[in-house]
Amino acid sequence: MNSLLLNTDGVQVPQLGFGVWQVPSDVAEQVVTTALEVGYRHVDTASAYGNEEGVGRAVRASGIPREKLFVTTKLFNPDHGRAEEAFDESLSRLGLDYVDLYLIHWPLPEHGTYLQAWRSLEKIYRQGRAKAIGVSNFTVETLTRVIDEAEITPSINQIELHPYFQQRRMREFHEANGILTEAWSPLGQGQGLLGDPALAVLSEKYGKTPAQIVLRWHIQLGNVVIPKSVTPARIKENFGVFDFVLDAEDMTAIGAMNTTDGRIGPDPDTFH
Ligand code: NAD
Repeated sequence: MNSLLLNTDGVQVPQLGFGVWQVPSDVAEQVVTTALEVGYRHVDTASAYGNEEGVGRAVRASGIPREKLFVTTKLFNPDHGRAEEAFDESLSRLGLDYVDLYLIHWPLPEHGTYLQAWRSLEKIYRQGRAKAIGVSNFTVETLTRVIDEAEITPSINQIELHPYFQQRRMREFHEANGILTEAWSPLGQGQGLLGDPALAVLSEKYGKTPAQIVLRWHIQLGNVVIPKSVTPARIKENFGVFDFVLDAEDMTAIGAMNTTDGRIGPDPDTFH
């Protein structure tokens, strides 16, 4: 499994992780257990998902040494002003001593609180209770403010990114600043994207499913990617992306699937 180096003290992130948004806590326990059995070593949860307990139970019961696992959780919107307490609550729900990555979930630019929250994350990082810190749904503007005014540059920005919404400007900005791009909704939430005829052609050519083609595209772009599924066969399928390579022409063909209105989730400039 590929890992990518973060900009913090040699910390590495497994490039393929497992997302658990909209998964109830008891189900999360089951599906994270399945994912860890399949070989995933990276799990993406959030305080807002209400399933940190289930994720933590699965991680702790897995028998996999803690240092071989990468656990991410996130600071939710109402907690910008109380980030250290919220972090403690997340750790206690997870039943862990540290997380590998702690993210500010949304910037909420109208509230003007993300810099204060970031300073708390810097403190948590210095205490060693988060091995790395980063952000999610930050724009060039909000990220620039953090880079300019804070001491530590975020290691990752987790943003909506899939073939219909490729975020080229953000990816270039991240690259120029040593920040990894992490793709949420990497499969475009399944639905329309995985039925796209362009992917059917590639699926046939490589003998891989449309989901595997899309995930492989992310891997080759250098994105960290966290697909979600609660179906064991799909959890396994989504992990099978390291035994083939898309050629340059096919990477370009997927590049051409970008659309101007491909966003599925909220716009970070207005979401609060
Ligand atoms: P996704 O793109 O991973 O799609 C998941 C859906 O695609 C599944 O529910 C299923 O319907 C379908 N699917 C999955 N595997 C499939 C397969 N092999 N074949 C066919 N269909 C398949 O969408 P997501 O859950 O929105 O995003 C993934 C993760 O990203 C989340 O679980 C969460 O961890 C994270 N996320 C973060 C934010 C954020 O604001 N930071 C927002 C949304 C999601």
